[in-house]
Amino acid sequence: MSFELDPLPFERDALEPHISARTVEIHYEKHHRGYVSKLEKAIGGTPAAERPLEDVIREADDAQVFNVAAQVWNHTLYWNSLCPGAGPPEGALAAAIDRDLGGLAAARRALAEAANGEFGSGWAWLLADVDGRLRVQSSTDAENPLRSRYTALLTIDVWEHAYYLDVQNERDRYVQAVVDQLLDWQKAGKRYAALSSGA
Ligand code: MN
Repeated sequence: MSFELDPLPFERDALEPHISARTVEIHYEKHHRGYVSKLEKAIGGTPAAERPLEDVIREADDAQVFNVAAQVWNHTLYWNSLCPGAGPPEGALAAAIDRDLGGLAAARRALAEAANGEFGSGWAWLLADVDGRLRVQSSTDAENPLRSRYTALLTIDVWEHAYYLDVQNERDRYVQAVVDQLLDWQKAGKRYAALSSGA
């Protein structure tokens, strides 16, 4: 079985006070791990289980398999989109943010707008096109950009379980904290650099 729960890249209390240790614990141990278990149940022992997760998502013709596989992948990217005390974007990513999104403040506003504007459960994304152009958009439920020509640089989980224990219905408070304090622009910069080097 090739699907595993990737380790959290930080301690469970590392995102406090913005995201509580309890939220991280339940989100990671129950929700993220739950999707891994459901994926195992759905395709464990089949040839698909030997494929890379990205390929399973791209090739899934069953909605349930797509949903659980995408949720495993989305959550791994989510944890790797967050970190305490991240500095601002640098280098090529910073230049692209200025060029395509009107600067970091505007990029943060666009991400917050996408995250708050997704009506139900979903995700907000910072994406790069094949030519390196950036865009911000949201997706519904488990949808992600793997079947598109865009590469995900950052994602924000806006399912209620991501914030409800901490701020209940006030999604915008969670989103603001993530966008202003927790996004890992260094990792996003590495993903962006890998894209232009053809990696
Ligand atoms: Mn989630």
